[in-house]
Parts: sequence; structure tokens; C-alpha cells
Amino acid sequence: MFHADTCKLCGACIKGCPFIIISTAEAKEEIAKFVKTRDSSLVMKNCAGCGYCNTICPTRSNPADLRKEIRAARIAQAGAGCMALMREDVPENIMTVGLRHRCEEKEEALKKYMNPPKSKAAFYIGCALSYIYTDLNKTKLLDGLPVLGGMKYCCGGYIRNTFGEQEAKFRGEELLKAFRGLGLKKLITFCPECDYMLKKVYPELVVGFDLEIQSIAEYLLEKFPSGEIEFPHRLDMKITLHDSCAWRALNEEIYEAPRKLLELLGAQVVEMKHNRRKSWCCGTPLTAVNPKAAEKAAEKRVAEAMATGAQAIAISCNGCFALNRKASEKNLDVFNITELFQMALGERPPHRISEEMNHMVKNFMQTITANPYLLTKKYRIKNGQLTEC
Ligand code: SF4
Ligand code: SF4
Repeated sequence: MFHADTCKLCGACIKGCPFIIISTAEAKEEIAKFVKTRDSSLVMKNCAGCGYCNTICPTRSNPADLRKEIRAARIAQAGAGCMALMREDVPENIMTVGLRHRCEEKEEALKKYMNPPKSKAAFYIGCALSYIYTDLNKTKLLDGLPVLGGMKYCCGGYIRNTFGEQEAKFRGEELLKAFRGLGLKKLITFCPECDYMLKKVYPELVVGFDLEIQSIAEYLLEKFPSGEIEFPHRLDMKITLHDSCAWRALNEEIYEAPRKLLELLGAQVVEMKHNRRKSWCCGTPLTAVNPKAAEKAAEKRVAEAMATGAQAIAISCNGCFALNRKASEKNLDVFNITELFQMALGERPPHRISEEMNHMVKNFMQTITANPYLLTKKYRIKNGQLTEC
């Protein structure tokens, strides 16, 4: 929540934003206007919602939340575009479009992800990534753990970002019921947005949400000393981590666990100038609304990665498409961190992120060209119920 009462209108948030190039005097003027009128085309057009400014605000006033609150209020009135709504009852969304490539393989994996057996612990892959990582139910990294995924088990991050906290609460309650039905006490997460929703948002919003949540790096790091999982292949690589924007409100361990584990596996971890809680966003969230700003942000982030001398960037969020695209232009490899753990185990993960990204964009363009009405098709969610606008 934005705290107007503590904000000193110093402008540091806008001045420090990686997407907005502006003088200090202009930044002060802009934030004063934004706070007073709740309107700033500059911020609304250039803000990726990355939360970086929350980490640099000297009064901890949460400036990033101001834009989120304004956006949620606008969407409550006008509705949200169908593509952003990862729900089974929204027939055309970014996930259903993404499914139209390697369809049989995806459908087979999704059937398993959406119908897991009862268990005390499970690997929670989330919605978006279960469409890309269709083979994660075979990895030995997670032996013995059922995988939960697909839209049925979406963590609800999109609901919180689009419709606000109250609606997220409904989603959290639904999920808790489903987890209890499966007998779950512990979830191992794959996606940073799921980390945020399950570790931070739901325990504060939903009564009784007390499951133990560990990121995959935290889980594997804990297993490492016992030798329960053996990693016979050293990762002889210099790697830099692109930390997820979704982690900013979590504790230090979310940042340290992947670093410690990569080093134990033989990698040399080198740091970009902006790292951990102060990591810069790669620009992807702005791709549709302001492609130039998105491109520029990806360029800056890849330049920081190149300056470290790393051979590869490790990401946790596969939504970082802009980073991936820009890095590949510079012949810098990008791996999901789980792929690196799989490689250390001796597996050969398909490393499909670029392929999936290209198909997703192609399918999206084809779908929109064939059905232009989808660009204006909107829905509202109120008290957990979906209605078409
Ligand atoms: S939100 Fe923080 S950084 Fe931004 S103007 Fe207010 S006090 Fe300064
Ligand atoms: S949330 Fe990120 S993109 Fe938005 S104003 Fe803050 S720093 Fe800039």
C-alpha cells in the first residue's frame, strides 16, 4: 500500500526508475502531480510495476504500489483484457494460446499436473511455467514429489496484480481448500511469483494458510549435505543471477540459496551491479504497452550481465522474455536455474525458453489477427466470480 502520509515528494522513486529518464527537478514535479491527482501519463506509460522504487524510497512509502492501486481501480471499472487472465473459464488467454505448440505433450503433462495424487509435499510449478516445463515430472531432482500445475493451480499473482488484494484473498482461500484436499503440508516452488504469493501474501491474507513453502533452490540446498541427491557433474561456468522482481518482499534466503547452491555445484557466481532486492527489471512487463522502453531496459540489464564477464545468466522467472531475447543477440546464454541444477545431476533439460517464446508470440499474433475482437474482450472478477464486461 502506498503511504501518502510519509511521502516527502522527494522524487527519488521516479528519478531512480530504470525506465524513466528524467532530471531530479522534473521527478519531484511529476511525483507531486501523481500523488495529488493520481494521474501521470509518464508513470502509467513507463512503469513496469517492478517494485524497484520501493527499495530506494527513503521513507518506505511504497511508491510502486501507488500505480498498482490506480491501475486496479481502473480495471475494476473497465475490466481486464482476456489474455491476462489465467483461468480455465477464460477460453482465450495467454496460456491457452501458448498451448498451441507441442500440444499432445503439453496436454499429457498438464493432465498429470492438474490431477496429482494425495501427498504431504509436492512440487508446485504454477500455471505459466507448466506450459513450458512439460517434462519436470520426470526429473530426478524432485523424485517422489507429485507436481501441481496448470491453470487450476495458478497462484493468483495475476489476480492480485490486476484486481487487488481483496480478490487475491478469494483465490488464496480456494487454493488452501484444494491443498488441504490433497493432504499437502509443504510445497516446493518453481516460479518467483508463486514464492511471493505463497510465502508472503496468503499467510497475511488467508486465515489458516500455514503450509511450509520452499523455493526449489532452498529445498535442494537443504538436501545437499546429506547427499540424498547426488550432483556428479560440476557446473564449470561463470554465472550471474538475474533476481526476480517478485522476490523483493521476501527474506534474504530466497536470494542466497540459489547462489550458495550454484557455488556448491562448481559454478563461479558473479554479481551484476543491481542485484538481489535491488535487481533491475528486464523490461518484459512493458513489452506490449511500451516496447521501446522494454527494449532499452533489457539492453541495460544485459549490459550489466556482460560487464560481469559471466558466460550465462541464471533466471528463476521465465517471464523474463525480453532479457532472454536481448542476451541471445549478444550470444549470452540464459538458463532457468532449475535447468542448471538438472545439468549438475547429469540430465539434459530441453532448454526450450527461446523456442517457446517464439511460438507464443507467433500463436498470439495469429490468434489476434484471426480474432481481433479478443483485443477488446474484457472480464471483471468480483468476490472470486468472473463476469464478461
Ligand atoms: S515515494 Fe518515497 S521516493 Fe518517492 S517521492 Fe515519496 S518519499 Fe520520495
Ligand atoms: S515500479 Fe519499477 S518501473 Fe514502476 S516506477 Fe517503480 S522502479 Fe519504475
